Amino acid sequence: MKQTVIVIGSGVGGLATAIRLAKMGMKVTVYEKNCFVGGKVHSRTFSGYRFDMGPSVFTEPHLIDELVQLSDSELSFSYQGLPESGRYFYEDGTRLIIPSGTEGTLKVLVEDLKEDDYNARKYLLRIEKNYHSLYPVFIETSLHRWSHLLKSNIGKAIRNIPSYGLLTTMNGFSKRFFKHAKTVQLLNRFATYNGSDPYQTPGLLSIIGHLELNIGSFFPEGGMVSITKILEETARSLGVEFVVDSEVQSIETDNGRVKGVWVNGVFEPADIVVSNADVHHTYERLLPHLERPKKILGQEMSSSAVVFYWGIERIFPELGVHNVFFSKDYQTEFQAIFKDKTLSDDPTVYIHISSKVEPLDAPQGCENWFVMVNAPVDNGQDWPMLVEKLRKNVLRKLSNILKVSVEGLIQTEFINDPIKLQQTYNGKGGSIYGNSSNSSAAAFYRHPNFTSKAKGLYFAGVTVHPGGGIPLALNGAKIVERLVKEDFPREAP
Ligand SMILES: Cc1cc2nc3c(=O)[nH]c(=O)nc-3n(C[C@H](O)[C@H](O)[C@H](O)COP(=O)(O)OP(=O)(O)OC[C@H]3O[C@@H](n4cnc5c(N)ncnc54)[C@H](O)[C@@H]3O)c2cc1C
Repeated sequence: MKQTVIVIGSGVGGLATAIRLAKMGMKVTVYEKNCFVGGKVHSRTFSGYRFDMGPSVFTEPHLIDELVQLSDSELSFSYQGLPESGRYFYEDGTRLIIPSGTEGTLKVLVEDLKEDDYNARKYLLRIEKNYHSLYPVFIETSLHRWSHLLKSNIGKAIRNIPSYGLLTTMNGFSKRFFKHAKTVQLLNRFATYNGSDPYQTPGLLSIIGHLELNIGSFFPEGGMVSITKILEETARSLGVEFVVDSEVQSIETDNGRVKGVWVNGVFEPADIVVSNADVHHTYERLLPHLERPKKILGQEMSSSAVVFYWGIERIFPELGVHNVFFSKDYQTEFQAIFKDKTLSDDPTVYIHISSKVEPLDAPQGCENWFVMVNAPVDNGQDWPMLVEKLRKNVLRKLSNILKVSVEGLIQTEFINDPIKLQQTYNGKGGSIYGNSSNSSAAAFYRHPNFTSKAKGLYFAGVTVHPGGGIPLALNGAKIVERLVKEDFPREAP
């Protein structure tokens, strides 16, 4: 008889795990609390403007290709490499456009930012090398099974320790190579890709920038939502069933084994349960009877966000697909988020405009602006007041830099804040990536992809190992597949 699997949640981590376990011949059902599949990677349309509601930066597309190729039908995933990785705007009027790839990035660092050519090359090479030596150990491998670690090229990762910047922060690491504040700010921004603070997160996380700075980012045909659409199709082609509008209420365990879940008032038995939900929600709401990993669950949370989805009645040729409007004082901004748990009066503003690539995402002559500001997780702040103030500050900043009244161009508006993010996805305090990576031991304080307390219970998604971002959630699914193959050997093909 086929082994039965229940996946809780249909984010990219849940979808990728469902595909992998279905390909192993298991009977997989995905329960999703929302009325749509895809978790944070989903799309909504307001008055003719289509918005990707969550992620906008897409790297490592081969990880999606790999999953689609597991399909039993002829599915394909289309995407294009973007010619530029981002446009950057500073308060003093400086504007930068970084072309994709190492040489394009170098040109901007050296010609526009007046950095030393040798140091700039050294930095880009260093993050590339560090990325390749850390990836097989920290991203592709369970840190919690010795057998995996020993096969993971850990020797190379250990030999390279002196080059990682373990004893400094990301900010300190950037300053070793660059002398200008604008360059350091640009490189420090990559700490936000896993919801952390560049003035606390270790220098080794500078590897996050490698993909964008040395390679560039990609854009799926049809927008980011095409990622979860194709994963859903792939899963369905392998027989995976989806049950939406169905919030799992609890996970049952007995005698050190998982037994199934309670959902819609019914007990659904399963040999294997994979939680793609936030690990805090999983322990606090779904597993109240299981001993909690207190140290892991007690870590500082990663940032959340306030997002304004604006339909803009004008085309801005000076903007690209990814645009960053920097604050004057980056350190104060991160202090506001992580120490004071509030929003800075001068926030860095990120704008994603998919209609630059997909014109039908906005009415003719208009653009769909996804305007995001990093925010603290919910701690009981007065969010309506903070969001109203932020909206004014963002509009003032954009209007100053773009030299036009942006408010008058907003045709339609929807707003997400930490409370709404928490309510929609069950992420603690609206955190986007679970625990923050604001310490050098953070990787070891992420929950493993399994628990020794209940055989058959696994975890996949950005709140557990290996961490935040779509590529990492996809790697987490690979780790779960490997663990299941070892723990349930007869099911392996
Ligand atoms: C505004 C924003 C911008 C982002 N930008 C980027 C970016 O540019 N690039 C990037 O790589 N990442 C980005 N991220 C992070 C990104 O969303 C994640 O990398 C990825 O989509 C998360 O996937 P996941 O599988 O961990 O979980 P999620 O997408 O959170 O999915 C978890 C699913 O579980 C469901 N669920 C929860 N509890 C239950 C329950 N009890 N029963 C049933 N279902 C349940 C939820 O409804 C949800 O669908 C961004 C996130 C946000 C919010």
